[in-house]
Amino acid sequence: MSDTIAAIATGNVVSAIGIIRLSGDEAIEIISTVFTPISGKILSEYPDRSLVLGTLRSLEGDTLDRCLCTISHAPNSYTGENTAELQCHGSPTVLRLALETLFSKGARQALAGEFTKRAFLNGRMDLTQAEAVIDLIDSETNEAAKNAAGQLSGAILQKTDSIYKGMVDIISHYHAVLDYPDEDIAVFEMETYADTLEKAVFEFQSLLDTFERGKVMKSGIKAAIVGRPNAGKSSLLNALVGFERAIVTAIPGTTRDTIEESVMLGRIRLRLLDTAGVRGTVDPIEKIGVDRAKNAAESSQLVLAVFDGSEELQSEDIEAIETAKTANNSIAVINKSDLPQKIDLTAIHDNFEVVCFVSALDKTGLHALDEAVSFIFPMPNAPAGEILTNSRHADSIGRALVSMNEAIKAMKCGATPDIVLTEAENALSALGELTGKTIREDVTKRIFERFCVGK
Ligand code: GDP
Repeated sequence: MSDTIAAIATGNVVSAIGIIRLSGDEAIEIISTVFTPISGKILSEYPDRSLVLGTLRSLEGDTLDRCLCTISHAPNSYTGENTAELQCHGSPTVLRLALETLFSKGARQALAGEFTKRAFLNGRMDLTQAEAVIDLIDSETNEAAKNAAGQLSGAILQKTDSIYKGMVDIISHYHAVLDYPDEDIAVFEMETYADTLEKAVFEFQSLLDTFERGKVMKSGIKAAIVGRPNAGKSSLLNALVGFERAIVTAIPGTTRDTIEESVMLGRIRLRLLDTAGVRGTVDPIEKIGVDRAKNAAESSQLVLAVFDGSEELQSEDIEAIETAKTANNSIAVINKSDLPQKIDLTAIHDNFEVVCFVSALDKTGLHALDEAVSFIFPMPNAPAGEILTNSRHADSIGRALVSMNEAIKAMKCGATPDIVLTEAENALSALGELTGKTIREDVTKRIFERFCVGK
């Protein structure tokens, strides 16, 4: 028995269409009390997933909307339960009234992620697929969306399932020999499974190798713009963002605090910080800004060090070079390429592997910056869905990998099968957590809490 949950799935905004979902034993009965097909036929007699035009009424019998409804019977639905979906006009008022009517007919408000949690608990998807739902909704780049869609189709499940089965084969064979000595079961020889284990290690290592890049693909990178006052940092931020986000003046020291904006460079999302110009200053407020700039550079995955190409290098530029060196990756951005150039490029090339020439004023050269970022952070060369982006997945696969490597090591040292099997069981348990076969209730609860209501 499952109680019936209902929620607005399309958010509280005026839109062309607004969707209300219901799921649970009584979903079809409840929707039938408020929605009448204009054909005069009974809603529950329509085939599953057909769109039925009808009238939606309030508790008092007033017409709330003329809209579409679709029903699906368990187990062939998203949640695996009886479900109904109303496609109303997208008025938040109409949707709220409709939802209240459904509550008074016996449905209750769905919790965040409860539809997908029910789909998982009813075996309609494994945990990696359920998590892909939220990744797909949250995705900010084409690549991230494609990868999440691949995982929603079961890419990780398929990759790990044969390995999971391989481990089960090893363990069950061993126990069968032990438990049924009189039966005619093939002798358990660990070596026959060496191949299975080695293939599994290779597969998992390749999967795990995608994680660092996968994180960049999903969450983008933190990048700081540093440079001496007036090099054109704020102008560069504005050019990249596409509007006047930061104040640009010819007065050095205008940007005193860090400003954060999200921009796409190449195929990567940058959480870009414009910092105060790096220079020695006695102004206490500006000094705090300069310190923050240095901290931002240190904690960033990428530094864009901006130089004024129309002037010779100054001691403050050298300070900016030193600041850029504290980051793992840096690009020298030679700005003001629209003006005659005086900068000493040898010093720049001596300190930076990647150098770009731009005019933030004219917005030229920005494409080279896109390419430079894509060069430093290449996308993983793996099919969509097979790029790990979720640290929970990486953690489970990492633990399975350690255990499988231990099993191989034990086997090579001629250890007794029970030692090898203990490691195989550890690997199995880590994989069970990955797909949700054996996961603690509190962990599942936390995963679904990240979802929005109605999903
Ligand atoms: P910041 O202090 O490093 O943030 O520098 P700003 O972005 O405030 O720019 C300082 C001055 O340089 C302003 O007068 C800008 O208009 C000018 N500037 C910035 N970028 C360019 C550029 O590409 N070409 C030219 N000619 N001037 C620029």
